[in-house]
Amino acid sequence: MKTAIITGASRGIGKACAIGLAKAGYTVVINYSRSKEEAEKVLATVKENGGDGMIYCADVTDKKQVNEMIRTVDKTYGGIDLLVNNAGIVKDEFLLMLNTDNLDKCFDLNVKAYFYCAQAAALKMFRKKSGVIINMSSVSGEMALAGQSVYSATKGAVNSLTRVLARELGEKGIRVNAVAPGFIQTEMTHELPADKVEEYIKAIPMHRFGTPEEVANVVVTLASDACSYVTGQVITLDGGLSL
Ligand code: NAP
Repeated sequence: MKTAIITGASRGIGKACAIGLAKAGYTVVINYSRSKEEAEKVLATVKENGGDGMIYCADVTDKKQVNEMIRTVDKTYGGIDLLVNNAGIVKDEFLLMLNTDNLDKCFDLNVKAYFYCAQAAALKMFRKKSGVIINMSSVSGEMALAGQSVYSATKGAVNSLTRVLARELGEKGIRVNAVAPGFIQTEMTHELPADKVEEYIKAIPMHRFGTPEEVANVVVTLASDACSYVTGQVITLDGGLSL
């Protein structure tokens, strides 16, 4: 059975990915940093659907904790087949009001943690000469939305990281891709003011936000052998927002 680690899987998109991947036959490692009860509920849902896995508490901005998580998972399940670098945060601020603490927090989680997890997992995948890494990006990695300079910069970095890793790791049998969702119904977007939500819904050709499950469906497909020749790509799913 294949093993998948999903960072930030206690809720939102990560949760949907864990459940979707378990349904597709993966043993899933549900990573979280604070929300243990929510992570346990995700694992319970996985098991109700006939799947298996574990929850794992690690702050992925801490390289030591990441290395320990990867080592434990590798030892427990005899390898790592898929890493979904998903844990992320958004702190929207205009440049003139920028709080540099938020700048650090966003880069630590949205960029540096992706490096830590990718490096540690790729070292294990290399042994088997196969593996898949999927990085959760955002349409903001390409689109310019006012107030999102920091978030956009982190997701642009994720897109660049994805392409370079695909080039570096291709000959080692490891595929690296990114998924770039538009607005998705999670806690992250619940905080948006109602007038903003209305404005965005008008701007989206499909006139609705996406669901975490719609993102998970793309992740499951991209991870599968149906996409065995796809690497270095950023797959957008945004109801047409970025067109
Ligand atoms: P979310 O609902 O806020 O969930 C974030 C997850 O990350 C939680 O499980 C949280 O768990 C975990 N997390 C936070 N800090 C962590 C840390 N230091 N170490 C490990 N886990 C940590 O977010 P989401 O909306 O599902 O977003 C997931 C990803 O999709 C992000 O990369 C985001 O940028 C991207 N995305 C989201 C949208 C959207 O509209 N929602 C659109 C485009 C892209 P704990 O509570 O346990 O820390």
